[in-house]
Amino acid sequence: MKTYRKRILVTGGAGFLGSHLCKRLLEDGHEVLCVDNFFTGAKENILDLLGNPYFELLRHDVTFPLYVEVDEIYNLACPASPIHYQHDPVQTTKTSVHGAINLLGLAKRTGAKIFQASTSEVYGNPQMHPQPESYWGHVNPIGLRSCYDEGKRCAETLFFDYHRQHGLPIKVARIFNTYGPHMHPNDGRVVSNFIMQALQNQPLTLYGSGEQTRSFCYVDDLIEGFVRLMDSSEDFLGPVNLGNPGEFSIRELAEKVIELTGSRSSLVHKPLPSDDPTQRRPDIRLAREKLGWEPVIPLEEGLKRTIPYFETLLRSR
Ligand code: NAD
Ligand code: UDP
Repeated sequence: MKTYRKRILVTGGAGFLGSHLCKRLLEDGHEVLCVDNFFTGAKENILDLLGNPYFELLRHDVTFPLYVEVDEIYNLACPASPIHYQHDPVQTTKTSVHGAINLLGLAKRTGAKIFQASTSEVYGNPQMHPQPESYWGHVNPIGLRSCYDEGKRCAETLFFDYHRQHGLPIKVARIFNTYGPHMHPNDGRVVSNFIMQALQNQPLTLYGSGEQTRSFCYVDDLIEGFVRLMDSSEDFLGPVNLGNPGEFSIRELAEKVIELTGSRSSLVHKPLPSDDPTQRRPDIRLAREKLGWEPVIPLEEGLKRTIPYFETLLRSR
């Protein structure tokens, strides 16, 4: 049970995951400072929080230093979809690396506990399946996805070096594909693409054969994992995988979306983007053991909660 109101900084707080996290932290009785440069985030995602006196919004780019007083920091700032992070790859790496340095500096000065939103992309195109945290990955350092993958890997390095060198309390989560309301409708990620296409009876775009797999976690499950990790025992730093171990081919996902939306869409094939991982599924034994956490919302249920969000978006256009 919560005993006092914490002051919590959420960077990237106007984005998809950040907006759900801000809401959850306010519901838990904390004070939230949401920092965002609105590159991919949107005011709409946090509109319902703006009237809350314990919620504060600051437009700021984390590649520049930030001076605020807080007890905890969740560092989520970074574009997450391939279209967005490849738009300005240099800025993507800067956001991960300079952003981590600035926020770790802030944590060092204030003594705040700091959480890093890392990613399953640190495993690259994995040669081990499913991926446990002990796997070091198979990452192309010079490809189109490298600005994101290597930026996130370097951020993990910085987190662990600040811990070893300065004793900072750190928490590192490796997030696997997550979906839900507030996803950007045009960010090119597969769940948002397929739902938008299905709702408009347009063909669903399967990249490559559609036999590549992903594991999809509903956002509420993931946010529960974030909060449990932040509150976990101080000797548990991570990295810890957070994701849903249910694994589906992209073709299966397309068929499920068509069924749930009652769409008349067909499937079309498009070229596979470079370095697109062929398989991905988290090994979540560590999260189960250390956090008592596992997802409880199956894909079909999560899609049923997500589809109405996109229907509303389309109606408002
Ligand atoms: P998102 O693009 O919706 O949110 C990212 C937010 O960060 C946006 O609001 C954006 O405007 C903001 N931002 C970007 N650059 C910034 C900068 N320089 N300064 C301040 N704000 C900046 O993406 P998301 O899905 O909510 O992802 C949030 C975090 O989780 C990211 O760090 C991402 O790498 C990580 N992650 C997400 C997933 C997923 O499936 N959603 C998977 C793995 C990791
Ligand atoms: N994908 C697809 N059609 C789309 C969008 C994505 O087939 O319209 C594929 C993509 O090639 C990848 C998978 O779906 O194999 C997941 O893509 P996403 O961009 O959502 O996430 P990531 O590749 O970062 O896991």
